[in-house]
Amino acid sequence: MKLKTAFLYSDAYLTYNLRDDHPLQQKRLKMVYRLLDACGVLDTNGGPVEWIEPTPCTEEALLEVHTPDFVDAVQRAGGEQSQSTSYRRRYGIGPGDTPAFPGMFDAARLYCGGTVDAARLVLNGYDSAFNVAGGLHHAHPDRAAGFCTFNDCALGIHELLRGGCERVAYIDIDAHHGDGVQACFYSDPRVLTVSLHESGQSLYPGTGFPGEIGAPGAEGASVNLPYYRYTSDDVWHEAFDAVIPDVLARFNADAYVFQFGADAHYGDPLAHLMLTSRGWMRAVEKLFTLAAGKPIVITGGGGYNIRTVARLWTMVMAHAAGIALPEVVPTAYADEYGIPRLHDTDTMPPVADDLRIEGRNYARARVKELREYLAL
Ligand SMILES: [Zn+2]
Repeated sequence: MKLKTAFLYSDAYLTYNLRDDHPLQQKRLKMVYRLLDACGVLDTNGGPVEWIEPTPCTEEALLEVHTPDFVDAVQRAGGEQSQSTSYRRRYGIGPGDTPAFPGMFDAARLYCGGTVDAARLVLNGYDSAFNVAGGLHHAHPDRAAGFCTFNDCALGIHELLRGGCERVAYIDIDAHHGDGVQACFYSDPRVLTVSLHESGQSLYPGTGFPGEIGAPGAEGASVNLPYYRYTSDDVWHEAFDAVIPDVLARFNADAYVFQFGADAHYGDPLAHLMLTSRGWMRAVEKLFTLAAGKPIVITGGGGYNIRTVARLWTMVMAHAAGIALPEVVPTAYADEYGIPRLHDTDTMPPVADDLRIEGRNYARARVKELREYLAL
């Protein structure tokens, strides 16, 4: 079946540059765009996926998710006041993880606009649309956090609701808990937020446990499956299979938003999960199968090994378009970026037996707990 898909990208996405030596390196986005182009996936090179430039999100749309004083604070970011620790305490931007910089407001509005545009596309007949700069899932209504200024995922969900969707499911496979999106919809029974992530016991932001099931009136609309650090493909998928299909079947969404942070891969320098490219793509494929026939907004997210990000998100876009890519990367691109193949070429570091056993026991216990909390 021919699938109608779009890829949202602009070189202007690179203006969301928190700092030159910041772990969030936005040149990874351009690497994805160029790899898709080199592989013949985009329409600019005869492929089936439309390349569409994003438009900045309006202030009005931002205010559906964020508080007016926070939006105002981001507009003033980069000024002298925004370099203070009191500014950081109040708004989450300033010295540290999410530094303020001149032009932050416009840069953040643009990556959000990409997700809102993707939502509009799927409301208007596209099977899916991928905003590669989206997935900034830690932003809260009243503050920035964890490299994320505004919450594009929440903005995209609002756009789907406004466009007539009654039940939207958000599924997040980033190594970090999707805390900001969860916070935005914690008391909204129309929006299911599902996050599969490394446990908050070992990783930022320290939340995302099975007991977080939603506020009264929205019980069961927040689902969290944490994993022990060093969890690899087999354990990750065993737990996924034991909960996620049932959760999604029960909720019966009419549209989906996927956050495909690439930092659960073993090569990521910030997180400790141990998924291979094949294990990670199997998760992506399962989610597309579970959402088949419904509109799908795809976003990126974390991912701090930029070569891994380029490989994984290129495979996501190809899968969304229903095309199979050759494993070998075109020579010119492979030489320029040092990416010879789409799947992993190095060997995953070994995980000690006691940690593997610990990881399996942890996942099985969380699944049991979660099924009880959700009355599945
Ligand atoms: Zn992450």
